[in-house]
Amino acid sequence: MTKYPVARPSLADLEEKYASDAIRSGWISSTGPYLERFETEFAVRAGTTAAVATNNGTTALHLVLAAAGIGPGDEVIVPALTYVATANAVTYCGARPVFVDVDPQSWCIDPEQVAAAVTPRTRAVLAVDLYGHPADYARLREICTAHGLRLVADAAESLSGSLRGKPVGALADATTFSFFGNKILTCGEGGCVTTSDPDLAARMRLLRNQGMDPDRRYFFPVVGYNYRLTNVAAAILCAQLERCDVMVARRRAIVDAYDRYSAASPLLSAPVTAPDVTRAPWMASLVLNRDAGFDRERLTGRLSDAGVDTRPFFHPLPALPAYGSLPVDAYPVSGDLSRRGFNMPTFVDMSQDDVEAILQRLDDALRGCRAETALR
Ligand SMILES: *Cc1c(COP(=O)(O)O)cnc(C)c1O
Repeated sequence: MTKYPVARPSLADLEEKYASDAIRSGWISSTGPYLERFETEFAVRAGTTAAVATNNGTTALHLVLAAAGIGPGDEVIVPALTYVATANAVTYCGARPVFVDVDPQSWCIDPEQVAAAVTPRTRAVLAVDLYGHPADYARLREICTAHGLRLVADAAESLSGSLRGKPVGALADATTFSFFGNKILTCGEGGCVTTSDPDLAARMRLLRNQGMDPDRRYFFPVVGYNYRLTNVAAAILCAQLERCDVMVARRRAIVDAYDRYSAASPLLSAPVTAPDVTRAPWMASLVLNRDAGFDRERLTGRLSDAGVDTRPFFHPLPALPAYGSLPVDAYPVSGDLSRRGFNMPTFVDMSQDDVEAILQRLDDALRGCRAETALR
């Protein structure tokens, strides 16, 4: 029986060629032609004037907040439902993440709740394009402008998405990406921040390199970090960028097949995409209906037995011990999605036959759960 992991990187001859080239050149640390090429090409794709590469997506988040001057006593508004790195980056600054619930349709931060959560200490809104759906940046921008706040986007899961034709990367004051092994583009570990604010970009470059004055070696005006990406990782990313459109198209076809299946199923719901949005095809996300008669774990347990790996949706962060251990339903929409949502295997090198085999196993698992429920 073929086993299907939730994710698997797509690495081709081109990645190997560029990585070998970087190794043979001797430029394996954080200087080299692939780094410059990657930053230039990534900024063009994002539609911004700058891209600042980092060694992962979490450091990209911390770098942009640190460069924006966020520190102790400050508050940053973040969604309750996201990966923990979003809130951790705020905490690293000594600032406080203020959680608000997500919208039941887009699963992204609810702008009206953001407006209600602003206090005199609020400095920024950090929106997350959860499971590929861009947040409502038009409304968030109005709120941020009205209160003088920075608008930052965590686009770790939404590369290739867009809002009203504008690409993810250019929708906020600064946008962060992750190139972890399960993301849409990968180099193992890597990240990037895109922005069209030259002062913010310069500050990020300074802090990324230990705070060293770019014109004076070993002279450090501020305390910085070592958040640099390597030239070898950038070489892999240059290859991934060349193959990006083809890889995204393949992912999109896979996610569409899951969406069609769940839209036709009485037991599942497909995600809802706003009319002016292109959702990025990261990991296919399905939600078990409330009236299914059985819980998600029963279904994902059966899928696991059938060789199909899944991931549950994230826990609401305020429910985690690190962020207060509040009841899961303190943020009701996040709590509800967190209990019912799950991700299905989504990777570029999955064939059409694989997709059909997985959907058949999903169908069998749902039937099995239903039969078991009827017997009880
Ligand atoms: C993957 C991810 C990150 C950061 O990822 P790294 O593993 O540090 O590269 C941040 N936010 C979200 C929403 C993510 O999915």
